[in-house]
Parts: sequence; C-alpha cells; structure tokens
Amino acid sequence: MQGLMMDYPLTLQHAYNRAVRIFPRKEIVTRTEDGIHRYTYREWGKRTAQLAHALHNAGFQEGDRIATFGWNTYRHLELYFAVPCLGAVLHTLNIRLFAEQLVYIINNAEDKIIFVDGDLVPLLESIAGELKTVKQYVIMGEAPQSSGKLHPSVDYESFIANQPETYDWPQLDENTAAAMCYTSGTTGNPKGVVYSHRSVFLHSMGVGLADGAALSERDTVLPVVPMFHANAWGFPHAGIMMGSKFVLPGRFLDPLKIAQLMAEEHVTVACGVPTIWIGMLQMLEREQLDLSSLRAIYCGGSAVPRSLIEGLNHKNLNIVHAWGMTETSPLASLCKLRSYQLDLPLEEVFRIKAKQGTVLPCVDFRVVDMETGQEVPWDNKSYGELQVRGPWIARAYFADTESAAKFAEGWLRTGDVAVVDEDGMLQLVDRTKDLVKSGGEWISSVELEGLIMGYHKVLEAAVIGIPDQKWSERPLACVVPKPDYVGQITKEEIIEYLTPHVAKWWLPEDVAFVEAIPKTSVGKFDKKVLRARFEA
Ligand code: AMP
Repeated sequence: MQGLMMDYPLTLQHAYNRAVRIFPRKEIVTRTEDGIHRYTYREWGKRTAQLAHALHNAGFQEGDRIATFGWNTYRHLELYFAVPCLGAVLHTLNIRLFAEQLVYIINNAEDKIIFVDGDLVPLLESIAGELKTVKQYVIMGEAPQSSGKLHPSVDYESFIANQPETYDWPQLDENTAAAMCYTSGTTGNPKGVVYSHRSVFLHSMGVGLADGAALSERDTVLPVVPMFHANAWGFPHAGIMMGSKFVLPGRFLDPLKIAQLMAEEHVTVACGVPTIWIGMLQMLEREQLDLSSLRAIYCGGSAVPRSLIEGLNHKNLNIVHAWGMTETSPLASLCKLRSYQLDLPLEEVFRIKAKQGTVLPCVDFRVVDMETGQEVPWDNKSYGELQVRGPWIARAYFADTESAAKFAEGWLRTGDVAVVDEDGMLQLVDRTKDLVKSGGEWISSVELEGLIMGYHKVLEAAVIGIPDQKWSERPLACVVPKPDYVGQITKEEIIEYLTPHVAKWWLPEDVAFVEAIPKTSVGKFDKKVLRARFEA
C-alpha cells in the first residue's frame, strides 16, 4: 500500500518564497568598503528575482554552471538563490586556490559566467586567457583600474537594473542540481561535489534542528566561514529558510572587526574554522567587547583544540564542535552535551566538547577497521575509518571516473579515522594520511596537537610523521609560540608538559619552533607543506 501524502518537491524555491512572503522585514547586513550596507529580505527578494531575469535574458538556462568568485556579501546571497531557483547550478569558486587549480576547476565545471567581487578582479584577470567556457563576467562593486582582460564584462548593478522584481520560477524536480563546490583535496586534482535541491533542502532542515545548529527566526547569523567553502556550511540556505537576520563580514576578517560586528549587530550564532577563534581569543585578551548575545560558535573544518574550548569558556563563549566535509554538505555531526552529561564537572564537560559528537538525523555512520574491514567496537579506543551515508552525502564526484573506491558499497569513505564511545559519540583521531605509524603502532597527530596547544606558551601546533630508520616514522611537533614567548620556550619543557598525558613512545622525537603553521586555502593546517619542509 502506498502512502497518501503529496509529492511536494523539496526545492530552494520554497525557501525563497517562504523568506520573502513571511519575513520581509528581516535584515541582511554586510560590511563593505563604504561601511555597513543594510537592507531587508523584501529588497533581497526583489533583487534576487531581478538577477534571475537578467540571467535568463542573457541566455543562461537550466543546468548551466554559474560561478562566483567572492566574499560573504549580500550580492553573494542573492546569487545563492537566484541561480538554483532558476534551475541553473551555482558554482562557488575558492578565491584562495592556486591559479592552475582555478583554471582546472572552471574548465572542468564548464562555467559559463563568473560573478567576481571588484577587489578580486586582478586574480581572475591573470587566468582569464585559459578559461575555455566562460562567456561573460559580472563585476560586483567597484572594480580596480582594470586592464580589461575580463571580456565581456558588466557591473552587477547594471546587469540586474530595470528587471522585474518577481519571478515565476520554473517547475523543478527536487533532484535537479542546485550548487557545486570542489573539495580542497590534498592529492590529485580537486573533485567536484554536486548538491541537489533536495539535499540542500534536507541539510537546511538538519542545520535548523534543535540538536543541529538550532537556527531560527530569532537568530542573527554571522558566517565567518567563506561562502565558497562547502556552502558556508549550509548556514546561508538554512538561515534564509528560517528567516534569520544575516550579518556578513565581506572581506574584513580580522578578529577585532568580526567581534565588533558581532557586538554591534547582536549576533547570536557564528561559524568558522578554529584558526579564526584562536585569533579571536588572543584578541579578547586585550580588548573589551560585549559579546553576550552570542549563544553559540559552531566550529569545525579541523579539530577544535580543548584549550580553545576552555579559553572561550572563560570568556563566557560557547563553542560547539562540528564535523563534516564538502562531500557531506557539510554538517554531519555536532557535539552537544547529552541530558545526562549536563551536570558533569567542568573538566569532563571540556573533554566531551572536544569530540566531534553525535551524527545528525539522516546521517548514518560506521567506523571500520582499516585492515580487517570489520566495524570496530564502541569502546572509545578502537580506531577505524569513518564512513557515512545519507540524503545529503555525495554518492559520486562530478565527471570523475577515478574515485569509485571512495564511494564503495553505498558508503562515503571519509578518510577520517575515528573512535566511538559507548554513547555513539564520535571523536576523530586523524586523517588516514596523517596518522603517524611508529614501530607498527598508530600515534594520533591530532591528539598530540590538541595537548600541545593546551600549554600556556603555545599559540598553534601541528604534528607530522618524519621518516625514522628504526621505527619507520616518529612524530615531529611544529610549534608556534605565543608572541610573548618567542625565544623563551624549549623542546624540553614541551616534552615535560606532555609526559603525564601520553604514552612514552608518543612523545615527539623533536620539536621545531616555527613562525606560523602553513594553512590551506580554507584555513586548515597544511601538513603537506610541513612534511615537504621537514622531510630531510
Ligand atoms: P573540507 O571538505 O575541506 O571541508 O574538509 C573535510 C575534512 O576536514 C574532513 O574530512 C576532516 O578531515 C576535516 N574536518 C572537518 N571537521 C573536522 C573536525 N571537527 N575535526 C577534525 N577534522 C575535521
């Protein structure tokens, strides 16, 4: 027997229509060159429809890839909805990639048009000659004195001017592609992940769940995570669907500027990678700002060190650890204390909050022994590769025939190594590629890093395996001292600090003091660069 419910398509058109009809007075605030830009959902809705008309009239159609090369701004938020609601595919380009990666990605996706922020025009100009499919550029905001290599180009405001302010959206199947994003992959060419309306819709509901990011109409959301990195973790889609107020930082990502924006606009929810919040915590040691409206900072992309959780807690700020990947839309798990953990001593609470937490409804997981292929017991000790599946998890990469093994047996093999505790809470111990194998046993680089970053003289630390004749690999700790302790910190004191916390054979073979840990295009520790530097 069949159910008798409507087959209502789960598309972003519903989110758009709901936002403009029900929440017209809600605000979207952006920091720009010329100060604060502020308008309402009503205005956003009109301009989004105008943009859709402009694209349609310029000949862009369903399935066309329409790229963006920009910061977190109101115009980017207009593109986030105009493009998919039209049936086209929004391709957010990572502005921090190397030129050759960008050329590869744009040509691989066959982007037809690129919307670029004015200050980023020179970056695109340097590769424009190699782009095979791009027919047009639209420049958002003031372009610098351009050498005219982006051809033909038009400015955004002229592009959308005089277009009708409502759009009769085409009927779309919910499985139509809505957006795409390339992984920041560390090996081989970047891989395209293609999200469908249905997957974005369901993911937005997940972000809104009380045990998700609990995003609601009453929230004021500030995504620090770029809109070109995994859909800014789904917060733009979910926030519009729920009717949240938005605060967008543009290109002004300095911790003080972000914190001022949070204070002035009474931000309740922010999200970004740990590096951002490490910088902010440092800044808050010097500056007094009222961040009391902030109920949660969602943080992931790389492991959140316990010292950061504790440090922010001392400032009355609640950081919530989350895990995901470009391939998982990205929110897959999130660490909130269970009802029966609320009254635990603070030490225990910090220990739990450092876990990647509980998978959201709709996300199914297993942790599989990397040698036997069997699921590991939930004993908080046994390691294995984390595999996931669900309606917002990718089942293949775009135009790629090499990665079938990554999606074997209906599961996404994440390449992350995890343990599971008896409550089913996940904790990542490493990437499969970053685990240090010493004398046949695994050492978690992430755990060592977390511990070292807890030492009061340390700002950041990354641990890599270096070749060793006897043990095959040994851990090397690369440590950035806090500015006040440069030249006043020794290898011996770090080893002494670690000794009570880890087995003797886990202690780093050596400690290298460095000025900064190299970062990837999305702000994660770039261990590939560190390994190349210390190989010898
Ligand atoms: P990306 O697709 O660039 O977002 O990278 C996804 C990868 O980032 C994951 O496979 C993890 O290795 C890492 N990652 C994301 N969130 C966390 C987290 N909370 N803790 C540790 N690693 C994380």
